[in-house]
Amino acid sequence: MQIAVCVKQIPDPATPYDLDPETHFVVRPDDQIMDETDTFGVEVALQLAEANEGTVTLFSMGPTGTQQGIRRALATGADKAVIIDDETLKGSDALTTAKVLAAAIAREGFDLVITGTESTDGYTGVVPQQLAELLNVPSLTFAKKVEASADGSVRIERQTAAGYDVVETSIPALISVTAGVVEPRYPNFKGIMAAKKKPVDTVTAAELGVDPATTQTIRSVEPVASRQAGELFVDDGTGFERIVALLEETKVI
Ligand SMILES: Cc1cc2nc3c(=O)[nH]c(=O)nc-3n(C[C@H](O)[C@H](O)[C@H](O)COP(=O)(O)OP(=O)(O)OC[C@H]3O[C@@H](n4cnc5c(N)ncnc54)[C@H](O)[C@@H]3O)c2cc1C
Repeated sequence: MQIAVCVKQIPDPATPYDLDPETHFVVRPDDQIMDETDTFGVEVALQLAEANEGTVTLFSMGPTGTQQGIRRALATGADKAVIIDDETLKGSDALTTAKVLAAAIAREGFDLVITGTESTDGYTGVVPQQLAELLNVPSLTFAKKVEASADGSVRIERQTAAGYDVVETSIPALISVTAGVVEPRYPNFKGIMAAKKKPVDTVTAAELGVDPATTQTIRSVEPVASRQAGELFVDDGTGFERIVALLEETKVI
């Protein structure tokens, strides 16, 4: 089974980073981490590959930097990586990103594509579905459990507001996984050393035949409003009335 996993490298949310004052783009540091969202996709892929004699190839679009995030995924067991690091793609929206990833994945060949549901920095949450459409395969989204059968079918438990749906299809297919679907493994020393020798191919938009048209403009970026102080209410025995009134005001009840 040939498994493609989409992994995004993002600036470490714990480390402050700058915005370009003119374009409002993030000035991406050289050291970026693998988006935590995608650590779950990598682990699902590794488990499926182990159970089905498969291979795991990582696909990532964005400034490569020191490849810290990619190397971490390779150190946990992925076989190789394909990176699309192309300045002409700067400012790409979700659809262009999906076109680039789809072209790279189709070029390598695949049985299964695995993604996160929503990245931690861009968080449009639409790349997986666009990718499935472009690759012309069914998309099984919001998986909280994934199983693959030897007969070539995949079955997921799809998280819903009320519980979960069981959804099944045959491969090739795309699955987006939720956080917590599995417990991502940590790289060990042997894996870290092995990762240094694993192939990392770099391709451009032109090589993939994708038009890198800039399709979005960021007009402004505003800081999140700070939280207002709450109201302190000393209960004199009628506190429940105040709580009920507040819940009614906010239309909770
Ligand atoms: C030079 C350059 C600079 C960039 N700078 C930025 C930037 O400053 N901020 C920013 O958010 N993006 C940047 N990108 C990446 C790209 O623009 C976004 O990935 C894209 O818009 C997708 O948006 P999203 O994160 O909202 O996707 P979502 O739909 O929220 O992502 C869902 C899932 O899709 C997959 N996915 C999404 N994007 C990628 C990716 N790039 N590579 C691999 N898998 C992916 C992941 O599995 C992810 O969990 C840059 C790209 C390039 C080439």
